Amino acid sequence: MLGLIQDRPLLISSLIEYSGLNHGDVEIVSRTVEGPIHRTNYRTLNLRSKKLAQALGKLGVTLGDRIGTLAWNSYRHMEIYFGVSGMGAVCHTINPRLFPEQIAYIVNHAEDKYIFVDLTFIPLLEALKDHLKNVKGFVIMTDEAHMPKTTLDNVLCYETLVEAEDGDYEWPQFDEMTASSLCYTSGTTGNPKGVLYANRSTVLHSFCVCTNDGLGVSNRDSILAVVPMFHANAWGLPYAAAMCGAKMVMPGAAMDGASLFELMEAEEVTLAAGVPTIWMMLLGHVKENNLKFSTMKRTVIGGSAAPRTMIETFVDKYGVEVIHAWGMTETSPLGTTGNLLKKHENLSGKEKTDIRVKQGRVVFGVELKITGDDGKELPRDGVAFGDLKVRGPWITSGYFKGEGGDVLDADGWFTTGDVGTIDPDGYMQITDRSKDVIKSGGEWISSIDVENEALGCPGIVEAAVIAIPHPKWDERPLVIAVKEKDHPVTREDVIKHLEGCLAKWQLPDDVVFVDELPHTATGKLLKTKLREDFKDYKLP
Ligand code: ADP
Repeated sequence: MLGLIQDRPLLISSLIEYSGLNHGDVEIVSRTVEGPIHRTNYRTLNLRSKKLAQALGKLGVTLGDRIGTLAWNSYRHMEIYFGVSGMGAVCHTINPRLFPEQIAYIVNHAEDKYIFVDLTFIPLLEALKDHLKNVKGFVIMTDEAHMPKTTLDNVLCYETLVEAEDGDYEWPQFDEMTASSLCYTSGTTGNPKGVLYANRSTVLHSFCVCTNDGLGVSNRDSILAVVPMFHANAWGLPYAAAMCGAKMVMPGAAMDGASLFELMEAEEVTLAAGVPTIWMMLLGHVKENNLKFSTMKRTVIGGSAAPRTMIETFVDKYGVEVIHAWGMTETSPLGTTGNLLKKHENLSGKEKTDIRVKQGRVVFGVELKITGDDGKELPRDGVAFGDLKVRGPWITSGYFKGEGGDVLDADGWFTTGDVGTIDPDGYMQITDRSKDVIKSGGEWISSIDVENEALGCPGIVEAAVIAIPHPKWDERPLVIAVKEKDHPVTREDVIKHLEGCLAKWQLPDDVVFVDELPHTATGKLLKTKLREDFKDYKLP
């Protein structure tokens, strides 16, 4: 027997319609590419998203068409999120930090019909335009006064396009499983693969982000989304903020510590989200200038492991709670969050940090397990580590156009490629990417552990650990580190520091210093490049 309850589809348009009606005055503040700070609100954002949907309809865009964006975080990008997905088309956020050939590949693979582009990225498209097969036109995200000269064909001005419409538009209703957005993983090997989200998965994910033990987003928050809208939909924050009418603060292209801090203070930011590299820059700026956060209460750190020292600095020095979160493009992305439990209230500061460095507990909606080489589930004892697998209504069921084949096992579990432990309280800890672990004499050394400990050594600002082939042990760890400017730290200092925190067999065989480390388009250490660069390296 079925329940007697209305079956209304879960659609992305309902998020912006809700905040447009019920949180109409709440602001969306953006640092624009053109320069000034721009202020709008949910009422206007809903109206302009509708105008955009009308305009797209006139351009011939229909259900299921892919529309690309090459843009920073801004109110216009948010209008595109809602306008495109709201009309039933697919918002394909393109990561501008990918190699140009990869950008051409994914635009063609996605068969983008139009591309919305910020002024910053026009040269990038101009260089690629002859390779983009299906694109009918480019919408430049600015007003007439700022329209540039360009060699791109079929160029439209965003403001002119949107403001030509009257906004008298009802969001269409369609199947909630209709594709809503598309995001390619940066792919450290091979071509990027597309993760295709649905309206339903996005709305369910937003509910999760708004729960207290998710990211706790609410109308009381002013959210600085530093994580780009082209990186797993800015971790779903634009949708979740619309669900509860939270103020959104969008940094545009200015991601340096000084610009971020200025926005945080001016817009009374309470919650900020970004990858560790960003927080490293911000904390550097705050320390150098002897500043304090006056309104910041929580910061979400994810994308890579949050180093212990970073967590301690936020929590103990500045009184900002850290929510260490884990996820992937394939998981929409929220999978686990590191909120403390009631029973942790009376723990010491150090004990609390021991919990916060873990990637956290699985959120409701996602199932999580670790398995051994034989595929059998391993115990949740905080010691056994194995392949991390997930399942749930916002986890991918396969890449766009079937790339990579079947990704789920017979029971519907998705293998993440991460290796981790789960403790008896359910806190998961990533020990490594499966391809990054160092296999030494039959034991596994976590490259992440060694990196985190190396970061605790005074004078080290960034560290990467890779495996170097070894005749006796199979592989041994090499630390490749970046020093603080003019700091006298030496190889011996780093090893001596690590002797205090790691078992003898986990100690690196060598430490080398470089000016900078290579990163992926989403800001992660690019270990494939390091492995290539150091492939002939001889350990002492
Ligand atoms: P990419 O496109 O770079 O693969 P993703 O965001 O999809 O971008 O990357 C997901 C991966 O990032 C995860 O599988 C995991 O290895 C890593 N990751 C994400 N969050 C964390 C975290 N809090 N700690 C450690 N690793 C993390």
